Parts: sequence; C-alpha cells; structure tokens
Amino acid sequence: MTQAAHNITRLTVLGSTGSIGTSTLDVVARHPEKYQVIALTACRQDELLFEQCLRFKPRYAVLLDQAAAARLSQRITAASLKVEVLCGEQALVQVASLPEVDAVMAAIVGAAGLRPSLAAARAGKKILLANKEALVMAGRIFMDAVRQNGATLLPIDSEHNAIFQALPRDYAADMAASGVSKILLTASGGPFRDTPLAELQQVTPEQACAHPNWVMGRKISVDSASMMNKGLEVIEAHWLFNAAADDIQVVVHPQSVIHSMVQYVDGSVLAQMGNPDMRTPIAHALAYPQRIDSGVAPLDLFKVATLNFVAPDFERFPCLALAYQALRAGGTAPAVLNAANEVAVDAFLNKRISFLDIPRLINDVLAAQVSVTVDTLEDVLLADTQARAAAQEWILQ
Ligand code: NAD
Ligand code: MG
Repeated sequence: MTQAAHNITRLTVLGSTGSIGTSTLDVVARHPEKYQVIALTACRQDELLFEQCLRFKPRYAVLLDQAAAARLSQRITAASLKVEVLCGEQALVQVASLPEVDAVMAAIVGAAGLRPSLAAARAGKKILLANKEALVMAGRIFMDAVRQNGATLLPIDSEHNAIFQALPRDYAADMAASGVSKILLTASGGPFRDTPLAELQQVTPEQACAHPNWVMGRKISVDSASMMNKGLEVIEAHWLFNAAADDIQVVVHPQSVIHSMVQYVDGSVLAQMGNPDMRTPIAHALAYPQRIDSGVAPLDLFKVATLNFVAPDFERFPCLALAYQALRAGGTAPAVLNAANEVAVDAFLNKRISFLDIPRLINDVLAAQVSVTVDTLEDVLLADTQARAAAQEWILQ
C-alpha cells in the first residue's frame, strides 16, 4: 500500500527515549489518526522504552544494549504486548529501512546515528534528520544516497528547519539560481555567552548543561556551551543547502526567537520565528507540506519585546573557528572534528578534562590527522576511528 492509499504515515523513531525522540512522540500522540509508530529504538533505557511501547504499540522495539533488551523482552511478554524486541546496531539499520515504514525520525545522538540514518536514506524514506553528526561526518555520501534513492530529507535542527522554511519551495541546492545571497544561522550563545573568560576554566558539566533557552540531551548541551554545536550546524547547512562556508554567517541572537534567516539579493531577509520548542520543527517535518498542531504556545511578541543580534566571538568560542576550518579543509576533516569533539565532550562530562580542554584537544587532533578525500563510507569510518584513538591518547598525556 502506498502512503496516499492508507493516508497514515508509518514511523520509525530512532532514539525515541531522548529529548528529540520524546518530543516527537508528544507531537505524534496529538494526531493518532495521522501517524502510526512501527519501531522505537534506544541505547539502554529499557524502562522508558517499555512505557513508550505500552503507549504507542509499535511492531518493533530495539535496544543497542543486550542486557537492556533482555529486560525489555521479559516485560513485553509479561504485559502480553505484541512487540518484537531486537538488539544491536544491525537491528537499528533494519528498522530504519523496513518496507512498511514511510518516515524515519533520525534522533540518535552522535556518530552512532550514522549507519541507521544512512540506511533510511538508502531505503528512500522520508528522513526527519536531527542527527546532525551524520551529515557532518559523511555529508557527501549522505546527500548522494538521498538523491540516488529518491529519499526526502527534512531538517529537524531548528535553524535548518527555519532556513528550509525561508527558502523557496522549489529550492534546488543552488543559492545563486534562487537569488539567495547568504544564510544567517542564529545562535543563542549558550550559557557561557557572558561568563568572564577567567571563569571558563572551572565550569562544571552541570553549568554547561544548563542552557538558557532549550532543554536538550547532555552532548548537544555541552556542544551549545562551547558553540561546537553551531560549528557542526555550519557544516550541516553546507550539505543541506549547498552553501559555501563564506555564505553561512553565524549571528548570535540570545532570545532564540528567530531560528535562522535567509538573505536574498534584492535585500529581503526572511526569518522563521517561534518559541524555542523543538516540537515546532518536528511537527513541520512530520506533516510537510501540510501544517499540524504541535502543542507549542503561540509566540507572544509583546512578551519578547526585544531582539538582539551580535557577531560571534571566535576567541571565546574557538570550537566555532575549528568547525569552519574543518569545513574549508574538506575530505575527512569534518569527521575528525566530530570524532575528537565526541571524545572530548564525553571526557568533560566525566570530569576527565576541563571545559577549555575541549577546543585544545580538537585542535591538536585535527592538526595531527591528515585529511583525505571521502570516496566511501569506510573512508569516513576509518578517519573516525583514528581520530577517536588520537583523542583518547591526548587525554591520557
Ligand atoms: P539525547 O541524548 O537526549 O537522546 C539520544 C537518543 O539516542 C536516546 O534515545 C538514546 O537512547 C539514543 N542513543 C544514544 N547513544 C546511542 C547509541 N550508541 N546507539 C543507539 N542509540 C543511541 O539526545 P538529543 O538531545 O535528543 O539529540 C539527538 C540528536 O538530535 C543529536 O544529534 C542532536 O544534535 C540533535 N538535536 C537535538 C536537539 C535538541 O533540542 N535536543 C536540537 C537539535 C538537534
Ligand atoms: Mg540547532
């Protein structure tokens, strides 16, 4: 049956227990007549995944962790639910490419999301992409897979979703042909935007995860504090919209009300605005090209009252400069940047390195790894493995 014939979108939610995953299920629950959940996946959170199974009755539930999968199996049997429990990375790939699935929410965090997200592209699905690291690592391979298999790629990252909305509907990856002169990528500046530089050395994981405007997973929260998140988003925008590094301008906008803008050659600047709540881009992508209720409160402009804009401070946030550098270097450099960052963030969260060590580590790993051209996924995975090893060594030194 085609999607049009049954008029219901059948969904796989990769990373359903995370921040984006739970927001996705919140939107889905508002429209039971429109969406049917076929598969839910998580790393090791079997308790929350079980609750989601009770509520959404998927055909499949996948856990990466074997012990967690065994626990989930027991509870599924005890509750007489008809959910097949699967385990391991290959199972993630499998549920991302099931023939009975129309759309895949790719919301696994980090490089772990690459294979399942890519599998959805190769299976020609409608992909709702939150897993920006997949594009950062393997942008060319991912975009080729989307094109070659007739997949539809809809950005969930609020900035990229905003840009997508502000671009012409028929945008064909050619800025000049559409009269676009610049992409204005907004950034909140994170929790340390105004922290005295001398205090940054001592900041804790808890402080880094306390974002002023958004509630998110821990990895992206630290990325927001270092502004590596914005750096990854610059690379993500490059691939999604075929924009050169010089045509992507980061604009610090502390209120996070404008989610990004597109500047046209005639002087027009189109912005997408709203309350900072990920259910808006999620609902947009789920229903595209239609619109559905997301549960997000309407924007109260009188309450917002003021919008500020400042240029990014590359000295305070060296991670942003490193990301531009990796994008310009091309080849495997963005994959190296991403891998070094993942190791550094994990080490910071586990109090093995300081906050200011994050850019130091990434800089040293980037400088030491030779960037090679990317022809296959294996080129990317090799660069990822080598960069992780180099980053671990850096920490031990
Ligand atoms: P999160 O940590 O809250 O959730 C991550 C999900 O992935 C969980 O379900 C977890 O079980 C699963 N997971 C983690 N490691 C895994 C592994 N090795 N294998 C399989 N599954 C694994 O993260 P999040 O904040 O929801 O972010 C998810 C993605 O969305 C990230 O790429 C992030 O950059 C992006 N994103 C998030 C937000 C946000 O507001 N949270 C906004 C924009 C983009
Ligand atoms: Mg974002």
